[in-house]
Amino acid sequence: MDKYKATIGLEIHTELKTRTKMFCNSRNDPDETEPNTNICPVCLGHPGTLPVINKEAVKSVLKIGLALGGKPADFSEFDRKNYFYPDIPKGYQISQYKHPLVSGGELNGVKITRIHLEEDTALLKHKDNYSLIDFNRSGIPLMELVTEPVIESAKEAAAFAKELQLVLRYTNLSEANMEKGEMRVEANISIMPTGLGKEKSPEFKITKFHPGKTKKYGKTLGVKTEIKNLNSFRVMEKAIEYEIKRQTELLERGEKVLQETRGWDDEKEMTFSQRIKEGSADYRYFPDPDLTKLKISEIEEFQPMHLAKEIPALPWEKRGDYLRTGIKAEDAEILVQNPILGDLFQKTVVDLGAPVLISANYIVSDLLGLAAAETKVKDFKFSLIGFSDLMKMIGRGEIGSRAAKNILKKMYEEGGKPREIAEKEGLYQKSDEAELKTLAEKIIKENSSVAEDYRRGTDGALQFLIGLGMKETRGSANPQVLNKIFKDLLG
Ligand code: ADP
Ligand code: MG
Repeated sequence: MDKYKATIGLEIHTELKTRTKMFCNSRNDPDETEPNTNICPVCLGHPGTLPVINKEAVKSVLKIGLALGGKPADFSEFDRKNYFYPDIPKGYQISQYKHPLVSGGELNGVKITRIHLEEDTALLKHKDNYSLIDFNRSGIPLMELVTEPVIESAKEAAAFAKELQLVLRYTNLSEANMEKGEMRVEANISIMPTGLGKEKSPEFKITKFHPGKTKKYGKTLGVKTEIKNLNSFRVMEKAIEYEIKRQTELLERGEKVLQETRGWDDEKEMTFSQRIKEGSADYRYFPDPDLTKLKISEIEEFQPMHLAKEIPALPWEKRGDYLRTGIKAEDAEILVQNPILGDLFQKTVVDLGAPVLISANYIVSDLLGLAAAETKVKDFKFSLIGFSDLMKMIGRGEIGSRAAKNILKKMYEEGGKPREIAEKEGLYQKSDEAELKTLAEKIIKENSSVAEDYRRGTDGALQFLIGLGMKETRGSANPQVLNKIFKDLLG
């Protein structure tokens, strides 16, 4: 058993895909490349301007809350989080403190503390001896989800973030692309001696363990560090693993973990101290007097029964649907991760009655392979019926697997119907013995040395001859029949 147990809590920020910004009419366009174009006096923070709450953004957070089984607030309000930094010219960020929009909920077995809404800040670009500020990002609605400190490993933390990304994509509330900063993860990490709290283990005495929080979470936890700017799942896992190791080594040396904010150096593959953590008191939170209070329970369109209509099937529901068809768990997961492929599978199999295992197999291996060059599986050139016909033709043995792959490739690249392609290219499976025998005789004649090898018992010689037959018929020969014919002829 490990001597220490890790505890992780995540804070995940996500830019929501609304048409306009959080408190003004400027466009919310994360893909805008020209700096300082989607701006106005409100999101620039000019004195005397007044913010107005974007209803869409509030609805988005309530929807996520509903999807994750959280409790919507009865009353909610926005607060000013005061701090001085060039990314927030008005001197405070509008956020939520005491009354988040959503409390509680659960994802991947991890308890969620709260989900609230705030405004994103300007983007700073640091050059050699000066910095540039782009205000396009200022005021973009930013959702913050905070988990309880209940995650126990880097893998589990990454799995949580991945599943959240999927939920955001399924609900179409954000692309949640980490590389683009649309989803930003901060990980809080602490360790403590295993067995603590059960009985006084000898480890407890030898380590200089010093508890951090105990009251808020109702349990003893070690002093935590917070790692910021984890901008990919890979970095997230590496940084958490590194941090667990670093803290373990500190305690083992009899030193203490300092409560601080750390960054991740991707080149050195290590975390580094950024600043000693500020407490929430430093921000002097207070309710923003410029914004209206929200009595969520009294606003008709914020009610769960209305919001629920706009929530599609969620990843875990799809996962269940796919698994129930009897396909492999890995295949089901690929379908869950690639909703377009998942939809194709569901429609071909459920609506059009194509064979389940064949369809799953061709979608997750062949079709995914064809589409892999693109970051997203785009709209297909072939029709749903065309695809399901192809699966049925394979199921009935009208075409072999090699021919099927060729037909699928053609359909993927150019569109078209499988029967017409099979007809035109002569790809229907040939099991006609007389025809294949003529072909086999020709191949033996042209490759007499290989035939000789076979007779001498060389491994692979038979497979080579069958391969030539398949090639010659562009995959349409029935390989089992060819196998038998070659053996007969050479035997
Ligand atoms: P802070 O006041 O420092 O922001 P919070 O209690 O608000 O800390 O928690 C922020 C995040 O840190 C949450 O995700 C929470 O689960 C996590 N967290 C809090 N204490 C610990 C701890 N001791 N170890 C690991 N994670 C923690
Ligand atoms: Mg925090």
